[in-house]
This record gives sequence, structure tokens and C-alpha cells, in this order.
Amino acid sequence: MPELPEMETYKRLLSERVIGKNITAVEVTREKTVNVPVDQFIKEVQGCSITAIERRAKFLVFKLNSGKRLLVHLMLGGVMYVASEDDDIDRTKQVTLSFGGTRLFFIGLRLGYLHLLTDGQLEETFEDLGPEPTDPSFTVNRFLSLMEKKRGALKTTLVNQKFLAGIGNLYSDEICFHAKLLPKRQSNDLSEQEKTTLYNSIQTVLARGIQLGGYMDVPVYKGDQLTGSYNHHCFVYDLEGQPCQRCGQPIIKDEISSRKTFYCNGCQK
Ligand SMILES: [Zn+2]
Repeated sequence: MPELPEMETYKRLLSERVIGKNITAVEVTREKTVNVPVDQFIKEVQGCSITAIERRAKFLVFKLNSGKRLLVHLMLGGVMYVASEDDDIDRTKQVTLSFGGTRLFFIGLRLGYLHLLTDGQLEETFEDLGPEPTDPSFTVNRFLSLMEKKRGALKTTLVNQKFLAGIGNLYSDEICFHAKLLPKRQSNDLSEQEKTTLYNSIQTVLARGIQLGGYMDVPVYKGDQLTGSYNHHCFVYDLEGQPCQRCGQPIIKDEISSRKTFYCNGCQK
């Protein structure tokens, strides 16, 4: 499932391609993907333009000039793709937004969705989310105070969207590796120094993920060289049996709270 760096990559690449453009046509081929009757969805979205694209947690918000918002969550398997006039992608599209010849496809939204919301409804959707780890207001002191009340395995803590927004299965393992901490460690057993290291690792790993264009394996547009580069730069995730780049011991695959987890027993404590 796409996490913070993947959605940041979408935000950046989609912003360059669709902001300020008029939505000339809307096609919905799967009713369940949207939250209102298809007729109403088309009526309210067609003719609008997108004024901004924002990210919160693993969500992307398309701001429409009408004041309404389009909220997308890709969940497992969802992707977005921008096709120019002479381009297409051989996948079933659940929703297509056309901007003249340019089309934005929403693909693989089986569990994912595209909802048309008011600002108030959007706020409600976001009200239980924890802070954004890459926001300047998320300081080390704020992190330390949040960690004070935290119980349970480190892995479970990091992927908890009410604790921190945007981190999922892949980056939680990469963050633990970077911090040299075992994901099964109990959050409340970490020393102050370890928690500070963990905070720094969250910042470093997410920034690196964003810089490398995340791990999505479908490009955002034809010729996109950025998206997915992180796939080739993972240290532990999906690398069971491979030698650890830091100490050479084989990476271990484990399960924590029924989530697959990868780590190195040699250099993570
Ligand atoms: Zn190691």
C-alpha cells in the first residue's frame, strides 16, 4: 500500500500536470469507487478545475475551484496515471478525469476510493489522524512526548495512523533498520537516546523515500523516471535471506501483529 513518500511523489508529479486545468469530462465505470450517485459526481466535478493537490497521511486531496474536494485513498493495488493524447495504459480504469486531451486515470481501486467531499466532511475524515512526521511542527520534543504514552511493539506503533500519519509496512521496517532498533522492541522500553535516534531515522528515511520517488512500480506518466526508484534502495523490506548491507547477516522475515516485518538480527538491537 502506498505510504507517505509514494503519495508525495504523486502530489508532485500530478500537480505539474493537472493543476489549473479544466475538467472537461468525467467517467465513472465503478459506482462503488465514488461516494455519491454517479450522475451527481459527474455533475459536480465536470467543468471544475483543480486549484491545488494536498497530501494528508496516505490520502491525496484534489481541491476543486467549486470549493468541493476529491479525496483519494489508493489502499492496496490502486494507482493513478496521467495519459497524454497519444498515450494509454492497458488497465481497467474505475474513474477517468479528462482535461482536454490529457486524462487522469484512477486504476485498481478495489479497496481504494475517490470521494467527493466538503471541507467539513474532509475534516471529519482526518480527525483521528496523528501528526505529519515531515511537518516542521513535528519536533523531536513532540515525538518524545507522544512516545511516553506508547505501549506495544515499535513496528505496531510506527504504522498506527492515529500515532503518526503516513507510515506503513515498508517504511516502518526501513526506519527501524536505519535506527538500528528491532521492530519487535517495546516502544516504552526505548531509552531517550534510542527514541531520539528513531525520530532522526523517521526524518531521514522518509526524506530519502520522497527524494527517490517512493516504491510504486507503475510510472505516473509515460517517460516518468522518478517514480519507484526506492524499490532498488530498500535495506530490509522484502529482502529475506539477502545479506544485510551493514553487517552481512541474512535479513529475517517475521510477523508482528500479523504484519510481515523484515529486519537484521545482527545490527538491530
Ligand atoms: Zn545487519
